[in-house]
Amino acid sequence: MGLARNILLAASTNAWLRERATKTAFVRRSVSTFMPGERLEDAMGASQTQQTQGIGTIFTKLGENVTKLEEADAVAQDYLDVLDKVHAAGLRAQISVKPTQLGLDLDKEICVRHLQRLVDRAGERNNFVWIDMESSPYVDPTIDLFRRTRARSAHVGIALQAYLYRTEKDVESLVPLGSAIRLVKGAYLESPSVAFPKKADVDENFYKLSCRMLQEDAQRAGGLLHIGTHDPRLADRLTTYIDVRQVPKSAYEFAMLYGIQRPLQQRLVQAGRPLRVLIAYGDYWFPWYMRRLAERPANVWFVVKNLFA
Ligand SMILES: Cc1cc2nc3c(=O)[nH]c(=O)nc-3n(C[C@H](O)[C@H](O)[C@H](O)COP(=O)(O)OP(=O)(O)OC[C@H]3O[C@@H](n4cnc5c(N)ncnc54)[C@H](O)[C@@H]3O)c2cc1C
Repeated sequence: MGLARNILLAASTNAWLRERATKTAFVRRSVSTFMPGERLEDAMGASQTQQTQGIGTIFTKLGENVTKLEEADAVAQDYLDVLDKVHAAGLRAQISVKPTQLGLDLDKEICVRHLQRLVDRAGERNNFVWIDMESSPYVDPTIDLFRRTRARSAHVGIALQAYLYRTEKDVESLVPLGSAIRLVKGAYLESPSVAFPKKADVDENFYKLSCRMLQEDAQRAGGLLHIGTHDPRLADRLTTYIDVRQVPKSAYEFAMLYGIQRPLQQRLVQAGRPLRVLIAYGDYWFPWYMRRLAERPANVWFVVKNLFA
């Protein structure tokens, strides 16, 4: 894939750069394209607006790879509060969590317990928890977390990445469980030994895996596909597939990120397609922001031009 993408993804994990960039006024301003604000209240306000437009929400608190168990405890508590506040406000808003934010690097059993508490609370609140997928070394432990929580509750789903060769097998193993799966292309810097290097192959795999998850056996098992892309070509191909095979709305939702491809979001909603938009909040936005830049080199030129203007 592109050189610019690789450079940005490498930069996303650089602590020196994070320290400096997050203090730069222009960078702070340009982040607001992708998030309504750092506070949960900002995210809830944007979610309220989306709801009036017929768009559901997924909240995510930015952060990853915590280095102290107390930080993981605080994140879990924060998400429990979010589930309560969403319930009290009558918002149609789920949550999405990163395993390394719940302590996966430090103590897997504590991470499982945090996740189970969140999924249990989501069950009590008739809500739902998504597990994000991080870089490839985390795929096995993340699928294991999903299987363990899914065995207790149906209020949990998992993200899988179409750029990984292994995802086809992972999908086959998870479909019989009636899994809720968010399919995304994948946002990390991965080696060609584990991930398709060509974008066209990733796109095609996305289409193929989505079709697989919309088949009748997956529907009968109770599965749900979140089509997590802003790619209008893929969205059109998949809506055609859905219409031709009369896939019910209960079997899929489109899912996008706040501030990206709004025209496509509107077009889907106007056509009566179920859509959720993920809204991020929190102050640890640098790696997340860099991954958003890496997805579209035009974003980088916009930032660079303004930095030197
Ligand atoms: C709801 C949701 C959850 C996600 N969760 C995860 C996760 O758990 N793990 C993970 O690895 N990845 C996750 N991602 C990110 C995903 O892997 C991709 O990196 C991202 O969605 C960009 O790919 P794309 O499918 O939109 O297609 P692309 O082919 O990259 O983009 C298609 C079009 O969308 C627009 N676009 C895409 N990205 C941007 C951007 N940043 N800025 C401006 N325009 C843009 C452009 O018009 C572009 O031409 C998630 C994405 C979504 C939508």
